[in-house]
Amino acid sequence: MSYENLAGRTAVVTGAASGIGEAVAVLLAAQGARVALLARRRERLDAVVEKIRADGGQALAVAADVTDDASVDAAAERIHAEYGAVDLVVNSAGVMLPHPVDDGRIDEWQRMIDTNVTGVLRMIRAFTGDLLAAAGAGRTADLVNISSVGAHLTFPNYAVYGATKAALTHLSQLLRAELGPRDVRVTNIEPGLTATELASHIESDTLREFVDGMADTMGSLSSEEVADVVAYASSRPRHVNLRQIMVLPTRQA
Ligand code: NDP
Repeated sequence: MSYENLAGRTAVVTGAASGIGEAVAVLLAAQGARVALLARRRERLDAVVEKIRADGGQALAVAADVTDDASVDAAAERIHAEYGAVDLVVNSAGVMLPHPVDDGRIDEWQRMIDTNVTGVLRMIRAFTGDLLAAAGAGRTADLVNISSVGAHLTFPNYAVYGATKAALTHLSQLLRAELGPRDVRVTNIEPGLTATELASHIESDTLREFVDGMADTMGSLSSEEVADVVAYASSRPRHVNLRQIMVLPTRQA
């Protein structure tokens, strides 16, 4: 499939070392965007960038940690130095660390809040100026947040993860009210179960097996299928904003 309006764009994608972020970076680059890939694992980013370049695309690996102010600021500085201003920001970096709430895992709660919510805010702080400038100059400008159907579900053990995603969904909506009138689109995407590394960080065997069991029962999306939704939304004419998209495996109720 080809998409209009992506060639010549300059994108930054967080969480691009794997899963949805990687697939988004690969797809945007294949459509002619220059893409800065941001995550912590440099070797994984280098491998994705190598693949993009081998296919004729333009990409830049930027190792950075979205939970660290200085790291995000340094990443933004490097991206600006190499590529100039960006006009498409995709926030896909995220962690999902379930446990019963009475386990009191404040370490995991803080990591989820700092990655899934404050991490997005750090990126917004670093790149909103670019998006407003691009829109002000008459170009298409997009902020895309990868939230989750988990923003709406009431699974036991996922209270804090779900709360971070509900915060991100609501943040997207509020940002749209602020940025939309200035021609910056804000798109909030809520995928259902997607086959990625996300569940591999779950400490509890039982809770990890629960996710595997869900995938066995209802199937899962591929990262490329979610990336297709990101590319579709970002490639509409600039006055069209798909502000809220939930994409689920058909069998996920
Ligand atoms: P992955 O674990 O494959 O991807 C998460 C990415 O985030 C990794 O590339 C990881 O790279 C990066 N990351 C994690 N922490 C940080 C950090 N502190 N700084 C920078 N990058 C970080 O999982 P998914 O692709 O599934 O997850 C992408 C998004 O999709 C997440 O926000 C997730 O909540 C959401 N989502 C996923 C669903 C699913 O079923 N898989 C369903 C709904 C939503 P590195 O470790 O190198 O930093």
